[in-house]
Amino acid sequence: MLRRTTTDIRKANRLDVLRRIYAAGSISRQEIAADSELSFATIANVVNDLLSAGVIVEDRFRDSGGGRPRAILTPNARRGLLVGVDVAETYVHVELFDLALRPMHASEHPIGPETNRPEELAGHIAAAIEALLLECGADRADVRGVGVSVPGQVAPEHGVSVFAPGWNWHDVPLLAILQDRIGLPLYLDNPLMASTVAELWFGAGREADNLVCVTIGTGVGAGIAIHGSLYRGTTNAAGEWGHSVLMFDGRGCRCGSRGCVEAYVGAPGIMATLAEVDPSHVLLRGGDQTACVQGLATADDPRAAEALTRTARLLGAALANLINVLNPEAVVLSSWVAGHLGPRLLPEAAEALAAHALDRSRTAARLLLSDIPGNPVSLGAATFALEGFLDEAVSNASRTTSGRPL
Ligand SMILES: [Zn+2]
Repeated sequence: MLRRTTTDIRKANRLDVLRRIYAAGSISRQEIAADSELSFATIANVVNDLLSAGVIVEDRFRDSGGGRPRAILTPNARRGLLVGVDVAETYVHVELFDLALRPMHASEHPIGPETNRPEELAGHIAAAIEALLLECGADRADVRGVGVSVPGQVAPEHGVSVFAPGWNWHDVPLLAILQDRIGLPLYLDNPLMASTVAELWFGAGREADNLVCVTIGTGVGAGIAIHGSLYRGTTNAAGEWGHSVLMFDGRGCRCGSRGCVEAYVGAPGIMATLAEVDPSHVLLRGGDQTACVQGLATADDPRAAEALTRTARLLGAALANLINVLNPEAVVLSSWVAGHLGPRLLPEAAEALAAHALDRSRTAARLLLSDIPGNPVSLGAATFALEGFLDEAVSNASRTTSGRPL
């Protein structure tokens, strides 16, 4: 049972204000208040916390009209470094950011299907981080936190990978294993939560507080943000829309059920649809998901077009379900399949969505492709590391203050 304590509310307020400062780049307290449900007094208190933690800085500018000086708040890029790690089943992507979450350097290391033991994978992640810091000449002492995203279900508060079907992991204490090798503050989450938080801070979330980040890759999910905050559900498993039923008694899905959204709009599902249209299609040769999806993005034969039309119509119907339930301002399509096929799928998906969603919800929701450059998962993972560092810094600052004689 989750209970929202005063500390939770303060943390949520802190994150809400910090997100607005990061999203804007530079902003005044008054501008934050104009766009937020928080009172000006709360915003002023939170800003004081952020200033004493050193994650933001304040500059004073005099208006051209000669009025009172306006204080402008900006992220404090020089307060340290953050690392974001996107661990997928085929690669480890590591990326270094400054504290303003501006990307500085990234590298990607392929891993094979044989790399599935937790200790072995942890060794790869640690080596990738070491190499990244070395390549940038970065000092470990300046790294404030490392965010790690792994596929599947995770328990961030315990640093545990609860279930990763691709590796057959159950309850792996990944952060404890990594901690021995890395020795930096670590934060664990999954790609769905990481992509959604990246969207919230740096994508569509700059204009929409209620949004859904639909990730379409090998797996499919829908990260949910409500009033500018990530909605995690009771056990950090919210957003498993990919395993909602789109076709009763339909295709078998990796999760063990049948007819799931993922079984139709994830990369293997799209390949299955192409195989239904034309079992001997050239793009199915070799069974390579990436090559097939990339090929479909530019294919101009009628059978590929038919497979894409079927996919788009199913995607639109599934998005209509999502919009009817959540009534968001924006639905953003993210991840690699959406990146390649989004422009081809979007028009027909929008038509099917319009046919199935209720008018009031449909007209409120914008359907968009993600415009975040680079890897949103490593960016989101680094954002979680920033969040963790901020919590530490604020509690240290308040300990110091409360220990001081009045
Ligand atoms: Zn499923």
